Amino acid sequence: MKFADVPGNRKSISKLIRSVEEGRIAHSQLFSGPEGSGSIILALAYASFLNCINKQKNEGNEDIPIDSCGECPSCRKIDKLEHPDLHFLFPVVKVEKKELSRDFFTEWREYIIKKNGIVSLNSWYNHIQVENKQGIISVKDISDIISRLNYKNYEAAVKVIIIWLAEKIQYAAAPKILKTLEEPADNTVFILVSENQNQILPTILSRVQITKTQRPNIQEAFSYLSDRHKDQEEQMLYDAIYYSEGNVSKALEYLSDKEDILYFGELFIRWMRTCFAMVATDIFDFSDEFQKLGREKQKYFFQFSAERFSKSFHIDSQIGNIHFYNQNDKVFFEKFSSYIQAEKFPILHEKLNEASFHIERNGNPKIIISDLSFDIGRILRKQQ
Ligand SMILES: [Zn+2]
Repeated sequence: MKFADVPGNRKSISKLIRSVEEGRIAHSQLFSGPEGSGSIILALAYASFLNCINKQKNEGNEDIPIDSCGECPSCRKIDKLEHPDLHFLFPVVKVEKKELSRDFFTEWREYIIKKNGIVSLNSWYNHIQVENKQGIISVKDISDIISRLNYKNYEAAVKVIIIWLAEKIQYAAAPKILKTLEEPADNTVFILVSENQNQILPTILSRVQITKTQRPNIQEAFSYLSDRHKDQEEQMLYDAIYYSEGNVSKALEYLSDKEDILYFGELFIRWMRTCFAMVATDIFDFSDEFQKLGREKQKYFFQFSAERFSKSFHIDSQIGNIHFYNQNDKVFFEKFSSYIQAEKFPILHEKLNEASFHIERNGNPKIIISDLSFDIGRILRKQQ
């Protein structure tokens, strides 16, 4: 991975390059930005840059390196996730004898390469087929990585440890990692990646240097997608960007799993109609269907619904230039948006967050969705 492979984020990249040039590489860093902002690609590009032996130079100013070469032995090994001094921690679920990140490394490698580094928690859980469980980065996993720091670097100038989703570090594991973050081994850089910085323990946060990552804007997203999907029509790419609101990970999912997303789109419309009608038997039928989704998909559906609400709200307040990729959506949203006034928007979001929280805490999905459906029905019907 090179910096050129990162969608958008030019400012953060310049800042990282400058810090390397000036020899001020922080040993504990956090790349923090929403899903789809390409933090993992940035982390890999940075790891390549730190270790590349033939850095690309700035045209016109040969003293300034601007990217890794992508071709030297170090770059190639990092690209294939085969570098012995590149380590990863990521959320996993205990299955049979597997419980550490390293036990899932084959799957992880396959996943990162398949997704070109554009990852999401949902698609990772799908990949390891643990949709009904919650992954964590356990105390054991943290101890395992710390023990690996004792070995000398095999070949890299800088050993890089990437912790994908630092907010998933188990509470009890924090004390173990704090000391390491504060005084890491020589020639070692920790890169924590987070999508929810506010869920990271303050004691960890205070020990890392933070680089913010952002989703690319429409032009950046378009050029990123069109480079990788030359076979797709332009309209399809714009639909993907529209659907994903610039979240490249979702845009790519849209292009590859359009059917799944259309299913959730249809499910949302059906759910809203059920809520609005407030017929108990229909709500209970819906809750049966919801239960079958499994916890990760249930949470995903709430997140998806929150985005749909925000779209409706934007339509109602006529913010932006909404265009629809799907005729069913158009018909539904034109009418639906009149029920979502500004005052209702934060309440609906809060209800969805609460429900998602209860799903995460292993609440009963049928009860959660039924209660939520009645609540939403009442909110929708409320006259302003
Ligand atoms: Zn190189």
